Amino acid sequence: MTVERKITDLEALISDLSPEDRALADRIFDVSATTGRLDPPEAMRAWIEKSFGSVDQVTAQRIVKVTNRITFEGTLFNELRASRPLDTGVSLDLDREIAATEGDPFCHPKQGTPADVFGRVEGEHATTASNVAKYDGFHGVIVFDDHNPLHLTPEKVAGYVSVGLQWGRKALETDPEARYPFLMWNCLWRAGGSIIHGHAQVTATRGSHYPKVERLRRNASSYKQEYGSDYFGDLARVHESLGLSIPLEGVHGFASLTPKKEKELVVIGDDPEDPSLSRAVGALLQGYVSDLGVRAFNVAFYMPPLGPTQEDWTDFPTVVYIVDRGDPANRTSDMGAMELYAASVVASDPFAVARALTGSPHGLVL
Ligand SMILES: [Zn+2]
Repeated sequence: MTVERKITDLEALISDLSPEDRALADRIFDVSATTGRLDPPEAMRAWIEKSFGSVDQVTAQRIVKVTNRITFEGTLFNELRASRPLDTGVSLDLDREIAATEGDPFCHPKQGTPADVFGRVEGEHATTASNVAKYDGFHGVIVFDDHNPLHLTPEKVAGYVSVGLQWGRKALETDPEARYPFLMWNCLWRAGGSIIHGHAQVTATRGSHYPKVERLRRNASSYKQEYGSDYFGDLARVHESLGLSIPLEGVHGFASLTPKKEKELVVIGDDPEDPSLSRAVGALLQGYVSDLGVRAFNVAFYMPPLGPTQEDWTDFPTVVYIVDRGDPANRTSDMGAMELYAASVVASDPFAVARALTGSPHGLVL
């Protein structure tokens, strides 16, 4: 029987890599482990055993800190939290709550939502609207034909993304300075979505890209200058060598070693227009919902600008992030001061996430 890989064994897993892969992993990631200890009173022991399985597991807890040296993204994994099985519970109440809002304005977008100044983009699975209270000068909504935001297929997701990209080109035609597109998806309340009906959002910004996208471009560009190598290719290779990649057609996908929050996946493709990229995102989201029981999630597309710019975007691919935001029934936010200002604290083991999506009984349907 092979021993399942665990995030808390990351240091050992890296030292077992081939010399080249190990050098690459060490170049990008700083990994360290520590043990947190405590001394519980007798009166707490029964409760600890019931909640965590054994007192020993709690009195000495292994914590692994992973920091990306290039981007300074970082995550703390606690063995006690990470050893719990992935929560794949499904709530019938949620299905009822979603069904109860059918007939909302997004069910009739032409009457219930404003159009953009350049009109609407209509696709096979979605229609765009203009966002009423805007994040930026151009801010659209991709209103899905499906009311239920969890009824996803790779086909439909490819349709949503295609409509969003066409919207970006329309915005650029209207204002040639609005070169920088951003596509995002906040599914249900915990992910920041206020409307239940399935929808994603698109913006187009001017002057320079959003700071987090621009920072990643600069980090990757410095990496190339220093090592003469492509950051995104190397990042995917490190995840693959450790067994964290998820096989997808035409793109790289992996469970991140520095997730922002639970079960974060990263997909890297060359061109946002490439349908294999959006289909892969759709397949992963389908696996998220059907195999991992995820209900609230965020998706973000980092894309190069649509027109010429002063800064160099030559080597910048399309990077898609997918993250689970937790159980809609839970009142406690998944993000606190640690996540906002220090480092993310994450319970889901990326190795378990990659295994669950790769060995899914449904299989990743591409
Ligand atoms: Zn609706």
